[in-house]
Amino acid sequence: MTSTTATIHVEEISATAVHLRIIKGGASKRQRVRWDDLAAAAGPDNDLDLRAVYHPAYEQAQIMRVNACPGHVPTKTVERPFVNAVASTFGTDGEAPKYNPSAHGGVSIVETCRCGATRHTNRNGQHEERGTWTFERQGMRDDQGYPVA
Ligand SMILES: [Zn+2]
Repeated sequence: MTSTTATIHVEEISATAVHLRIIKGGASKRQRVRWDDLAAAAGPDNDLDLRAVYHPAYEQAQIMRVNACPGHVPTKTVERPFVNAVASTFGTDGEAPKYNPSAHGGVSIVETCRCGATRHTNRNGQHEERGTWTFERQGMRDDQGYPVA
C-alpha cells in the first residue's frame, strides 16, 4: 500500500515563520511558512483533507512557541463566568497553583500571552484561585464548528 498523503513535521519556529519538513511519496522537502499562512491552512476555511494534514503541524508549532516563550505576559484579558476549578489541591507550596473553592462561583479571568499560552484565574470577592500558563489544544473542527476526532 502506498499513500499520497503528506506527513508534515515542524523542524523549527521563528517569530515570523515555521519551518516544515514535508514528506510525501518518499520525497522530502523543507518549506518555510508564515505563521498566518499555517494558521489559515489549519483553519476552518481550508479543505478538510488539507486541514487534517496541516492542523497537527500547527498545534505542534504552537506548543513549541509556548515552550520557547521567555516569560508569559498577558496581552489580552477576558472575563467570563466561572466554569470550573483551575488549580488542583496538589502542589500548594511556593508559586504552585492552589485550589481555592472560595474563589469559585464568581468570574474566571482568562489571560492570553502573545505566544498563545493562556492562564485562567477564578475570582470571587477577595478570593482568588490562579491556574498555570498552558497551551490549550483547540482540536480540529469541521465546517460546522464541531470537533473532528
Ligand atoms: Zn508566552
